[in-house]
Amino acid sequence: MTTPALDGLEAVIGLEVHAELLTRSKIFCGCSAEFGGAPNTNVCPVCLGMPGVLPVLNRRVVEFAIRAGLATQCAIAPRSRFARKNYFYPDLSKGYQISMYELPICTGGHLEIFTEGETRRIGLTRIHMEEDTGKNIHDAHGDASLVDFNRSGVPLLEIVSEPDMRSVPEAGAYLRTLRSILQYLEICDGNMEEGSFRCDANVSVRPRGSTAFGTKVEIKNMNSFRAVEKAITYELGRQAEALGRGERLVQETRLWDADREETRSMRSKEHAHDYRYFPEPDLLPLVVDQPWVDAVRATLPELPTARRERFARDHQLSTYDADVLTQRKDVADYFEAGVAAGAPAKEMANWVMTELLRIVREEKLDRALVIREWPVTPLQLAGLVKLVEAGTVNRNTAKALIPRLRGTARDPGELVAAEGLAQVSDRSALEAAVADVLAKNASQVAEFRAGKERVLGFLVGQVMKATGGKANPQVVQEVLRAALAR
Ligand SMILES: [Zn+2]
Repeated sequence: MTTPALDGLEAVIGLEVHAELLTRSKIFCGCSAEFGGAPNTNVCPVCLGMPGVLPVLNRRVVEFAIRAGLATQCAIAPRSRFARKNYFYPDLSKGYQISMYELPICTGGHLEIFTEGETRRIGLTRIHMEEDTGKNIHDAHGDASLVDFNRSGVPLLEIVSEPDMRSVPEAGAYLRTLRSILQYLEICDGNMEEGSFRCDANVSVRPRGSTAFGTKVEIKNMNSFRAVEKAITYELGRQAEALGRGERLVQETRLWDADREETRSMRSKEHAHDYRYFPEPDLLPLVVDQPWVDAVRATLPELPTARRERFARDHQLSTYDADVLTQRKDVADYFEAGVAAGAPAKEMANWVMTELLRIVREEKLDRALVIREWPVTPLQLAGLVKLVEAGTVNRNTAKALIPRLRGTARDPGELVAAEGLAQVSDRSALEAAVADVLAKNASQVAEFRAGKERVLGFLVGQVMKATGGKANPQVVQEVLRAALAR
């Protein structure tokens, strides 16, 4: 998606992401944090906000926040503090949300994003922990609105970027990179449709070359990457048009309407002071000592950027290929397992990026945080790649074997041998088939001899058909050309 023509204006975009953490229990009580479940079954007096209860901080949430902070080069505050954010909404039974305000746990990091062939650094303002709210359900029960508190108290990280993005592709790349990092860290499944990875966008425009910020608008209610890109594109265009007409923009919150593909005003922008933040009196300040930070650092995996650079260097892949292969840790692991099994890196990369990822996308296998049900195992795909490279089978036969290997432990080479699928590269064996095809297609032969080169493709196809797809297309072409020249 491209950024609309802004006629001398520059886009300024900052993103706020809420990432639901994959802890077993909620942030301040022992209830299950699992998604789904019958409404109001994963609840207790603490996450229902009953009077007189006290929150107890889940240590694992802090560990996940430290992981996210270290992976994005943030400073981890030795002392941070929870704060109450006061507001009323039916899904917030306490009348306040426990969040962090003036002393967040992580500050001042950055992400390296790769877009349009270039790497750019996007600053992070902060990462803090907070509790999720319940969920209002409208239209399910006549006119009544219902509230499900299963989500109340599920731990969230709020990750706030600096307003460093200047185009829609950069915003998209930032989101994908951030999601990829959280998935590598195994702290968030990154599922936008289910709401475990949510994004609000702050969007403004300003005259190109200016350093002052224009009036910003916050956009909410986008539940896919595509929606974020469309909403920002729409909003940039709307703001540029309004300014072009000499109108003043107002600072406000706008909702993305996915059906009408437009943003519309929801409310004037609230300010921090509207929430009457104050330090959470029921929780002690959070102290994170250096040994804890060091212990978490020691568990960090190789992250997408480092892995992308290593893939490009060690496997001689293009940056683009390396980027596609490292967006998901499981895909990167799969690729490397195939290379370790002896498949040439370039060919393995091609098969993973085309055949494997096509099936993964079609069957939505990538909804899982870690794909376990691959169409074929990395060893099997490496086996197919090696068979093609050795000329034992052609590409099409290899592709057709993927569904047959699925769910089995069979070795592709053994399957090919057992079913006589090996490619026929022997000229003498192909000559009879070629002669037969030429005899049956006299008019095409005449056309070819009259100079119509394209007809050769048709004739190759006929020979392939006659040999049940097993012929080596390269050799078929050679034999055909020789026969036609006679
Ligand atoms: Zn609870």
